[in-house]
Amino acid sequence: MASLYTKIVSKVLFPLHEKLKKHDTVRIRKQLEASQWLDAQTLHQRQSERLQQFIKTVAKHVPYYRQLFSTLGVKPEDIRSSADLVKLPFLDKATISANFDALKSDIAGPLARFNTGGSSGQPLIFLLGNERVSHDVAEKWRATRWWDVDIGDKEIVAWGSPIELGAQDKVRLFRDALFRSELIPAFDMTEQKLLSFLETIKSTKPKMLFGYPSVFDLLAKTAKQNNIQMDNLGIKVAFVTSERLYPYQRENIEAVFGCPVANGYGGRDAGFIAHQCPQGGMHLSYEDIVVEIVDPAGNPLPPGQSGEIVVTHLGTSEFPFIRYRTGDIAVMSDKQCACGRGLPMLESIEGRSTDFVVAADGTILHGLSLIYILRDMDSVEAFKIVQESVQHTHVQVVAKSGEVDLTMRDTIVTGLKSRLGDEVDITVESVTEIAAEKSGKYRYVISKVNVG
Ligand SMILES: [Zn+2]
Repeated sequence: MASLYTKIVSKVLFPLHEKLKKHDTVRIRKQLEASQWLDAQTLHQRQSERLQQFIKTVAKHVPYYRQLFSTLGVKPEDIRSSADLVKLPFLDKATISANFDALKSDIAGPLARFNTGGSSGQPLIFLLGNERVSHDVAEKWRATRWWDVDIGDKEIVAWGSPIELGAQDKVRLFRDALFRSELIPAFDMTEQKLLSFLETIKSTKPKMLFGYPSVFDLLAKTAKQNNIQMDNLGIKVAFVTSERLYPYQRENIEAVFGCPVANGYGGRDAGFIAHQCPQGGMHLSYEDIVVEIVDPAGNPLPPGQSGEIVVTHLGTSEFPFIRYRTGDIAVMSDKQCACGRGLPMLESIEGRSTDFVVAADGTILHGLSLIYILRDMDSVEAFKIVQESVQHTHVQVVAKSGEVDLTMRDTIVTGLKSRLGDEVDITVESVTEIAAEKSGKYRYVISKVNVG
């Protein structure tokens, strides 16, 4: 049962807030809640109609695409469904910055400038229109409600990015207070800070958690080590996003907080691409985002095959994202979810192409195969693996005892060599802490070797 406060926020305040911001979020969310139950064929047909409309508008009003269509000799009516998108080129970060002004529609409403650090390190500046924000918020709102929680329920947000926090202001704080969402700035985390975050969660008794999986995993570990009980607070779900969710993180968070973990995939640039439902399906935001999976040469791949995720966001006619390369690797599913929603699903998200490492013999391995070696060592507190080159991999280790001893060093070197090859040089550095990336995210494996 939702509390009265939740009902008021969900039914009155939030719609009002969105209306004031000229966002059409409530109407869109209601439409999305109806369309999610349609069968795949009807959904595809509707997506195609929306794509046609979107392409028509973009070809007419966005100088970059107006020029491109004419150069390529492609007519808007040549794009009838997602399969026709191959007629258009990919869009990447470099293209966006080189054509920033020409990507702005000549009938655009007010646009907000957005800056993303990007976990690949390459920053991106782009513009967000009201149409897009409304659709993004509505997609997230719909997926939130799949878990029997709603906007307005108490929420603890653990966000690791000093960049994103710095940009936000008092309006944001006001909004957080109004909608009962409390922000934990989760970077530079010391044991003391982690303990104080756990205290905040305990006294807040939130219905939901939201943030990076690495942060909640760390909080869960700290709670366990200090015998702090967290599974009796009534937390219904932990939404995690922005980083790859490892199976061991899911287990740890679920056990300690006593709630399921719901994975979300997407970013500010590409939009909220997929959300997990309680039955486990990673459902696409299909009404708003066209997803293609492509091989390294750029050819679309069928379900079941692994490739890069490329997205066309249909709410972006004011500053288009068409065939935008995410750099992430995933597999499309052709199955139907047990929940009954017709929304197609991603079978697995294998992370960024930089999550992979290359063995000396050229075999591409997932970083997870290296992670497990260190994670299974009781003497290891934290670590970071950097593949500097095919010949050299460097490992930073925080030992529980404070210093990495010979036995540990041996286990790490032997373990990594068994995966990467005997001839590979493995160096182990004993450190007192692992610094987060600039974005505030934690990455356990980084490869500087070009994969695929
Ligand atoms: Zn489902």
